[in-house]
Amino acid sequence: AKGAGRNRFSYFTPALQVAALNRMRLTNDLRSALKGDQLRLYFQPIVHLSTGRIRKAEALLRWQHPQRGMVSPLEFIPLAESSGLIVDIGQWVFNESIRWVQRWRRDVHPEFQVSLNQSPVEFQREGGSYDVWLSALRQAGVPGQAIVVEITEGLLLDASTMVTDKLLQLRDGGIQVALDDFGTGYSSLSYLNKFDIDYLKIDRSFVRNLAPDSSDLALSEAIIVMAHKLGLHVIAEGVETAQQRDLLAAAGCDYGQGYLFDKPLPAGEFDALLRSHAAM
Ligand code: C2E
Ligand code: CA
Ligand code: CA
Ligand code: CA
Repeated sequence: AKGAGRNRFSYFTPALQVAALNRMRLTNDLRSALKGDQLRLYFQPIVHLSTGRIRKAEALLRWQHPQRGMVSPLEFIPLAESSGLIVDIGQWVFNESIRWVQRWRRDVHPEFQVSLNQSPVEFQREGGSYDVWLSALRQAGVPGQAIVVEITEGLLLDASTMVTDKLLQLRDGGIQVALDDFGTGYSSLSYLNKFDIDYLKIDRSFVRNLAPDSSDLALSEAIIVMAHKLGLHVIAEGVETAQQRDLLAAAGCDYGQGYLFDKPLPAGEFDALLRSHAAM
């Protein structure tokens, strides 16, 4: 009995207390980060494979912490979600995105698009709607088509009326939708037909092992054929080698994104990259 008692208390090890405290501190810091200008928006090019042109970019959030340096979104997005800060952070990402995409549509290409991530918590938040986004677009004079929202498969599987309504609201505003990390979740293909989705992003776990005659190549080819039949464009994530790019292009994949082309860049650097490309 004594042993069992000790086991019960083993949940409260100092290490776990430290971790919990750490999370609390980081959450507090995140609150001031938003006010204190510590968030940065990076952009990674999405490359049209058959022409090499950059017509889209994914916006990726970075936190420059005054003591800890760069904190990964994988670490702070969950904290932003549990604390509710995700709403203000998402709005900040959106505002920055329309500011940049407006310039790129004016100076680089009239159909340039910025793609941004919406975590399931963010998307499904109670009472929230995309009205604020749509009116921000109107005010800036930016059409909805300038923005792509990346969501994950789990959301569609759930398919509550709230999810369906929000997807319709985005669509009515002209905003396009991409299905992120495709192939990692439940991957039921039926919802590709049921929902109006514009892009499918093949997860980098498939791209990593692409080789001639590999099963991941066969899978990617099948996904691409199917997506095209359903009227979706395909973006491959995590393209790191020329061989991966060539296999994907030969399989008919429309776009690629990954370190082969460029890593996510600070907005100013990405802006310069785009302008030098456009001048060529
Ligand atoms: P994600 O949406 O799947 O974003 C792609 C991730 O892959 C990014 O990581 C990107 O830097 C990384 N990546 C790009 N090319 C390559 C490559 O060739 N090789 C490898 N190994 N990785 C590559 P990052 O920027 O650390 O973001 C991680 C995740 O954090 C994102 O995954 C997304 O789920 C989330 N995230 C980032 N920004 C935001 C945001 O503004 N809002 C929300 N809700 N989530 C965000
Ligand atoms: Ca994404
Ligand atoms: Ca992804
Ligand atoms: Ca992924």
